[in-house]
Amino acid sequence: MIGSSFQSAACRTLQTSAPKCRPQARRQGFIDVDKNCRTGLPRVYAVGDVVRGPMLAHKGEDEGVMVAEIIAGQHGHVNYDAIPWVIYTAPEIAWVGKTSNS
Ligand SMILES: Cc1cc2nc3c(=O)[nH]c(=O)nc-3n(C[C@H](O)[C@H](O)[C@H](O)COP(=O)(O)OP(=O)(O)OC[C@H]3O[C@@H](n4cnc5c(N)ncnc54)[C@H](O)[C@@H]3O)c2cc1C
Repeated sequence: MIGSSFQSAACRTLQTSAPKCRPQARRQGFIDVDKNCRTGLPRVYAVGDVVRGPMLAHKGEDEGVMVAEIIAGQHGHVNYDAIPWVIYTAPEIAWVGKTSNS
């Protein structure tokens, strides 16, 4: 829910911003953000599926928490190397961390 709120806010803000801002903020359907989910627009953050990284609910939620902490003046952080993945097959497959190749 937190992630959705931030993403929605970012989408609305980007859509109503001056057209010149949009190419700076969007690339290949995603919103460009830095490691703290800051967009190219001042005070606008984007989290979740609309930014880089795996399109997983808990990843977006973690990013939302991080942004809330940063806005509150705390130190927010997401460890993208420790995001668990799961495939809901039978049996289920799950993994976390780097692969042997990476
Ligand atoms: C079928 C399916 C199964 C999935 N299963 C899993 C799973 O098991 N585990 C898992 O971790 N992830 C799963 N996911 C992925 C997960 O749903 C997403 O990663 C997660 O919902 C992303 O959250 P979000 O907040 O970024 O985006 P969303 O949940 O899509 O929320 C975005 C919100 O923004 C609103 N919005 C969009 N455009 C605008 C606009 N212009 N103005 C205002 N509001 C706007 C939308 O209405 C929506 O409420 C699944 C996805 C699908 C499609």
